[in-house]
Amino acid sequence: MPNAPDVGELTPPNRTLMGPGPSDVHPRVLRAMSTPLVGHLDPSFIDIMNEVQELMRYTFRTDNQWTIPVSGTGSASMEAAIGNLVEPGDTMLVPTNGYFGGRMEAMAERAGGNVVHVDAPWGEPLDTADVQEAFDEYQPDVFGFVHAETSTGVKQPHVQELTSIAHDHDALVVSDTVTSLGGVELEVDDWGIDVAYSGPQKCLSCPPGASPLTLNDRAMDKVLSREEAPRSWYLDLSLLEGYWGEDRAYHHTAPITNVYAIREALRLVAEEGIENRWDRHRRVASALKAGVEAMGLGLNPEDEYWLPSLNAVLVPDGVDAGEAISYVLEHYDLEIAGGLGALAGDIFRIGCMGYSAKPKNVSYLVTALGEALE
Ligand code: PLP
Repeated sequence: MPNAPDVGELTPPNRTLMGPGPSDVHPRVLRAMSTPLVGHLDPSFIDIMNEVQELMRYTFRTDNQWTIPVSGTGSASMEAAIGNLVEPGDTMLVPTNGYFGGRMEAMAERAGGNVVHVDAPWGEPLDTADVQEAFDEYQPDVFGFVHAETSTGVKQPHVQELTSIAHDHDALVVSDTVTSLGGVELEVDDWGIDVAYSGPQKCLSCPPGASPLTLNDRAMDKVLSREEAPRSWYLDLSLLEGYWGEDRAYHHTAPITNVYAIREALRLVAEEGIENRWDRHRRVASALKAGVEAMGLGLNPEDEYWLPSLNAVLVPDGVDAGEAISYVLEHYDLEIAGGLGALAGDIFRIGCMGYSAKPKNVSYLVTALGEALE
């Protein structure tokens, strides 16, 4: 038998998190997480669940009854969306312009769907005409797009045009809003998004663990009238309905502390006001953009689809991105990240999310990165 390990008390380094997520957690969220547990069926917890749903609807800008935190990270709310909406034999249209479109594809395939693609290069958004063409060619049942692509720093513009095309073809639209919810303008109802999923650890500045998901009635009708149960029992929305719907009956033990956390994080959104919060992200990220541009660095995406919450800064010729990233971590306790996939080595990914989106952090980042590139 192994001996009892001699492990000291937990003392993580005190980092400033300006990578692609997680972002720095707001102290009020950390405090909420240290409050006592109640049972997941305790009447007081039922009230908390209702409050979380109400706050989440406000943040998503939706009246959808079906708005819940899914237990798990953003990939759990993503798989809950795709795994329930896509039935075996359905066709799902997914984008190829970033890492997370690829994950949509993987999940749709596991759900038994046929995957078809709408192409755009990494670093560019989808073109409306290409989406139209893909619909005419494939007649998909479900269309997924990434509103804020964390791998490329691209915000998808013209969302309403995309959802109109999908609805003209009777398809349902799933949007990845992991890096936009609570930081970048997002109007689930007005834009005609049928299903949106997100994560708490980006613009909501909350630790991962309970991930926002919202579905409108049309999407929920499809989910509840499936012929075959989804492949995941844990993420089966028709079963989760028992807990988050009217009955409040046991399905699995909710991650109570994470629900406290997201409640406080969403309460902060409501206090600030969602439009003010979008403005703050844009303002602070504009300062960041100006700062790196003053250092002679460019941003990868065009202004029209620049994503304030994730800035893709071009790595200058002759610079090893990995070395610069390690330098700022080591000397400034500052986390930023490099590119993925097609953009590996070409960009720095600098987050400007939630509690991390503040002017002080911009000066800090510009100083640290400037020194790393000297
Ligand atoms: N979608 C996007 C756009 C993301 O940025 C991420 C995570 O970074 C995910 C999905 C998956 O979320 P998680 O890593 O929390 O499972």
